[in-house]
Amino acid sequence: MTAQLIDGTALSQQLRAEVAQRTLALKARGITPGLAVVLVGDDPASQVYVRNKVKACHEAGLHSVLEKYDANMSEAALLARVEALNKDPAIHGILVQLPLPAQIDAHKVIEAIAPAKDVDGFHVASAGALVTGLPGFWPCTPYGCMKMLASIGYELKGKHAVVIGRSNTVGKPMALMLLQKNATVTICHSGTANLKAMTLQADVVVAAVGKRNVLTADMVKPGAVVIDVGMNRDDHGKLCGDADFAGVREVAGWITPVPGGVGPMTITMLLVNTLEAAERIAN
Ligand code: NAP
Repeated sequence: MTAQLIDGTALSQQLRAEVAQRTLALKARGITPGLAVVLVGDDPASQVYVRNKVKACHEAGLHSVLEKYDANMSEAALLARVEALNKDPAIHGILVQLPLPAQIDAHKVIEAIAPAKDVDGFHVASAGALVTGLPGFWPCTPYGCMKMLASIGYELKGKHAVVIGRSNTVGKPMALMLLQKNATVTICHSGTANLKAMTLQADVVVAAVGKRNVLTADMVKPGAVVIDVGMNRDDHGKLCGDADFAGVREVAGWITPVPGGVGPMTITMLLVNTLEAAERIAN
């Protein structure tokens, strides 16, 4: 069997067109959804990420500002900026790009963001809302994975989902979202004794590790859905995921490619969250 691809680029285009439509409707009511992106320091990867986020906002008709600060910015100064953005009525979402320089406590900064503007979904209030099933902002990457599953009409009820990785930003929220949709969920991590024994039972595998070939064909149940969150480089420097794509796609029923899978969906869900933050204010 050769797996069908879940095309994150195509799905993103469709969702971004919907965001643009809803943004127009909101603008007609005098509200332009606004995202502030804050970058401290000059990490090259972070610079690319923030540029792409701001560009995506502009393309969908949202207002977006990029605030760039020196790597030696103090924690107090950054907290003051966050506080000012919390009060700025033109800003509905605030994203502080991680990682932050060592002198700044990232937890303190994230907790300083008003939960109503926490479009990255990293605030403890957002995490608590996800755990309890209350309305809040879902972290963009796992939220994007859920949209990809929905796009193929996949019914999670009664299915076994195995999430590899337990970070606060991807693995844990992913597991909670799958649970909320009535999957039976197993979370694996670096201490899992027999990863293959777990993944072989899975109807859905989400790999969020950051290591090449963590998931190989012999670890996948025929027909399973494989969502590959990982972003790694192969021997030729090309972007690749956690799954051995060529091997796994011969066993799986569905698979997300890297690049062109989860990556574009992450920014798309940031736009969705920012739009929803503005819609909540409007309503
Ligand atoms: P992370 O914080 O480093 O977490 C990695 C997780 O993988 C940890 O829970 C770790 O277990 C687990 N792990 C490590 N080695 C393992 C192994 N051999 N077997 C099973 N589990 C293992 O990373 P992250 O932030 O969640 O990101 C994961 C990957 O997704 C990275 O490649 C990242 O670049 C990518 N990512 C992509 C997007 C996107 O938009 N496409 C967004 C976010 C992240 P322990 O907890 O026991 O250490």
